[in-house]
Amino acid sequence: MSGLDDFFDKAKEVSQTAGRKTSEYIEVSKLKIKASQLQTKIRQKYEDLGSSVYNAVKAKSEGTEFILDYVDEINSLKHELRAINEKIDFLLGRNICPLCKSVNKKNVKFCSNCGAELNPQDEVMGV
Ligand SMILES: [Zn+2]
Repeated sequence: MSGLDDFFDKAKEVSQTAGRKTSEYIEVSKLKIKASQLQTKIRQKYEDLGSSVYNAVKAKSEGTEFILDYVDEINSLKHELRAINEKIDFLLGRNICPLCKSVNKKNVKFCSNCGAELNPQDEVMGV
């Protein structure tokens, strides 16, 4: 009888692991869609910036304040994109060091390159 119990235990274990993998996969897919949307947004901002600069120069306008606004917006979009890419890396098992950007194994606490503390798993997963 214990053979059968073992079988069920194993089956349960496998299905749990598979379920976790699937939800990670869905999470990564969602993040990838978000990342590509952000990339499109960033490209659009660059384009807007370009045509705004063109129009300003064409109109011989002195004001350049609007350029700084664009730079701020693009910077914050890039920041958002970087955070998403780091999360994708983490979910795929690539544990990126926040300091030196080295790739570490998933379950290590400290960076193998610079020794910095890596993000605890719960913290990253909870975001
Ligand atoms: Zn490091």
